[in-house]
Amino acid sequence: MAAIPPIPINRDRLLETFVALLAVDSYYGDEERVVEVIKPRMDGLGVSWRSDPHGNLIGTWPARGKNSEPLILNAHMDTVLPTPNMVPIVKPDGVYSDGSSVLGADDKAGVAAIMEAIQAFHESNEPHGPIELLFTTGEDVGHIGSKAFEAQDVVSRRCFVFDAGGPVGTVVMRAPGQRRFVMKFKGKSAHAGIEPELGISAISIAARAIDQMPLGRVDETTTANVGTIEGGQAYNIVAPEATVTVESRSLSEERLERQVADVTNAAMQAAKTYGGTVEIETHTFYTAYELEESDPAVQLADTAIEAAGMTTQHVSTGGGSDAHEFNEKGITSVCLGMGYIDVHSVKEFMPHNALHDATRLAVELIRHG
Ligand SMILES: [Zn+2]
Repeated sequence: MAAIPPIPINRDRLLETFVALLAVDSYYGDEERVVEVIKPRMDGLGVSWRSDPHGNLIGTWPARGKNSEPLILNAHMDTVLPTPNMVPIVKPDGVYSDGSSVLGADDKAGVAAIMEAIQAFHESNEPHGPIELLFTTGEDVGHIGSKAFEAQDVVSRRCFVFDAGGPVGTVVMRAPGQRRFVMKFKGKSAHAGIEPELGISAISIAARAIDQMPLGRVDETTTANVGTIEGGQAYNIVAPEATVTVESRSLSEERLERQVADVTNAAMQAAKTYGGTVEIETHTFYTAYELEESDPAVQLADTAIEAAGMTTQHVSTGGGSDAHEFNEKGITSVCLGMGYIDVHSVKEFMPHNALHDATRLAVELIRHG
């Protein structure tokens, strides 16, 4: 059987769109600047746009001559840090930051790939099913747009999230849940030289608690970290208060619950030992998910990756993405590798070939969807 010829992608237009997206500073709160790049460039393709109250941009691209189940193509419009003066530098192998900030390929490469895929497909005159586009806000500061997003604002119940690390062809099958803890230890202040025995050091309580917590790579599926510690008032005062922030992630929600108990017990035991107190706020930042190999959305991703001439790699990740929130809301979401390098640093770099491959993948998802 002869392979279906590929749909031609306009590489110059793809690069031009990508650079135009990178050139706007769209840290959380300023994503509207990306919306203003997307909409005019996608004029005349038949996409109808609306924004939800959280700034998420939703596009509906009606089917053309094909009756298939609708699907969502998703990327986030914000960047991990502001990029106010960053000038993207185009080199023969890819696009770099000028070193003043992150590049923001995470996730403008995802936005650009989806835009060019729709454009290229439109020009091909091939039939396609109904497609929804979902460009989210505040992913990197805490999945703000996707957490607030309402599933009834779209009809699709499967989504492809263009936002994972690893080469194009990477399919995230398992992703961790995360809990965050704020622990406020309270002791009693006293003069450190004159009457230290009247005080209770909150810093000592915190130190004991931390020492008793399982931290680092706790087991095969679980990690934990003390992120910040602050407390005390002066050299000569027994510290009345200390606040510690802790996170833990696990691919297993059950294991995560045990970690929550271990961390909480360590804090409470330490407070008891010293005669102080502790207040613990536990926050479920996101919930672990696992996709089945047999899930039709995973199979579609595999088919599209193969059709685009790449190799599928099913992976577990340690990171969070909008896919967490959509899966939680009942929209099966597959997070896909983008091939960007050194994201979240000023050395961030997007190879031309990876951007092109991600676009081909988006095209094949539409084609086989
Ligand atoms: Zn991202």
